[in-house]
Amino acid sequence: MATIEHWIGGEFTSGRSSRTGPVFNPATGQKQHDVVLASSDDVDAAVAAARTAFDEWSQASLSKRTKILFNFRELVNARVKPLAEIVSDEHGKVLSDAAGEVQRGLEVIEFACGIPQLLKGEYSDQASTGVDVFSFREPLGVCAGITPFNFPAMVPMWMHPVAIACGNTFVLKPSERDPSASNFVAQLWREAGLPDGVFNVLHGDKTAVDGLLRHPDVAAVSFVGSTPIARYIHDEASKRGKRVQALGGAKNHAIILPDADLEFAARHLTAAAFGSAGERCMAISAAVAVGAAGDTLVDLVNRKAGEVVVGNGRDPASEMGPVVTAAAKQRIEGLIESGEREGAKVTVDGRGLTVPGFEEGFFVGPTVIDQVEPSMEVYREEIFGPVLSVVRADTVDAAIELINSNPYGNGTAIFTSSGEAARRFQRGVRVGMIGINVPIPVPMAYYSFGGWKDSLFGDKHIHGPEGVSFYTRGKVVTSRWPHVSHAYDASLHFPTA
Ligand code: NAD
Repeated sequence: MATIEHWIGGEFTSGRSSRTGPVFNPATGQKQHDVVLASSDDVDAAVAAARTAFDEWSQASLSKRTKILFNFRELVNARVKPLAEIVSDEHGKVLSDAAGEVQRGLEVIEFACGIPQLLKGEYSDQASTGVDVFSFREPLGVCAGITPFNFPAMVPMWMHPVAIACGNTFVLKPSERDPSASNFVAQLWREAGLPDGVFNVLHGDKTAVDGLLRHPDVAAVSFVGSTPIARYIHDEASKRGKRVQALGGAKNHAIILPDADLEFAARHLTAAAFGSAGERCMAISAAVAVGAAGDTLVDLVNRKAGEVVVGNGRDPASEMGPVVTAAAKQRIEGLIESGEREGAKVTVDGRGLTVPGFEEGFFVGPTVIDQVEPSMEVYREEIFGPVLSVVRADTVDAAIELINSNPYGNGTAIFTSSGEAARRFQRGVRVGMIGINVPIPVPMAYYSFGGWKDSLFGDKHIHGPEGVSFYTRGKVVTSRWPHVSHAYDASLHFPTA
């Protein structure tokens, strides 16, 4: 059984810590690797490698950086399959979904390939007589990325291609539950020609994270994960004067109006709730059925939920894999039970599902819970599993109000054929990413990704133009070049005027 090591300064190292954590195959339930868990000495080593590499990398020309980014893009594109297999084996998601995640990461790399255009400054000729003013942006230094288990390839790619293109160096602390994808990507960066130390992978848990937050040479921290940790990261990093963007959890609602094509809505809701076993920060976990839409919608969703093929992520027939750990399975099943206890109606029950040949796997089947009330635990908690709660509302305004009362504000969607209702919704909801007849409205890489309220702490969204702004700081130069003849006025006399 191989132990997954850190990648620091262009080589693998087990570091100085003797601690390790288990990495499971969620489909079989078996431990397949150990991963090293960094000590504070290992944090120092990773940051020192990145700090040293920064001196040279921050001076590399735009052409050199662009060339390496294009190389990296080609290599990732050529290795989508093996990378997707690594993701599937440690996360559990089906291969096609894992390949889709790599594709969305690739799009951020492609965006970062345009870095010469993105970093162009401004120039004001003759701002005052003989005076010009211009601006440009410089990299920050060592940037840290701390990422969740649910997108082990894509979420780090929201960060490092942009940070590195901007001239920074990077220390990635991926989730300890599925750490291998990051080491694979590190090899591709090296093959692309990135100098050693520019991209480092530090494996670990809270010790590694706290070490990065406290390290004086870490200039900026990007975090994606659950809300309590996002809030902690934001507070700890900002009180030490670091730049920080911390993306948190979600409870994404979809409103279904009676004028919607309900068959279309039910298909898309099923995909958005159960794809990747609901372990997506943009998954729809609450359907708000308005008025007469309710009963028909629940019937359709029940039928479609029952048709989802659950199995090993490596099996091409599987549409949905297991959840990530035994603890996640237990937690999700406990929340379904709490809904039942509090009076909701479990219309499709995924508890206790076993997949033949994978009896020890961490499987939970698609679950639909109707008649959910906002006061119930199953509604209040982020379940992060294949569970769709259906809440009923009388009007579109009541549905919008429900969304706005929720502490999260990551994504939301509406299904309707009314332009007027859609427009009222898009203007009225306090949420960062909005879909109109699109259930998972993840912005393209050339926009920025981010929620509102408890779904994001900090003021910059991730990747896209806001990513470039996050990973750079501006300089404005005011310059005057006196006429050369004045230079001849030099005198050996003591200057008196
Ligand atoms: P998590 O918060 O448990 O872990 C995220 C990272 O933080 C990991 O690298 C982990 O090692 C580290 N961490 C965990 N506990 C810590 C602690 N006490 N102190 C310091 N660091 C700690 O999240 P997860 O379970 O890996 O991922 C699922 C969560 O991520 C969900 O809440 C989901 O909504 C969220 N998520 C959000 C987005 C978004 O864009 N807003 C995207 C993906 C996932």
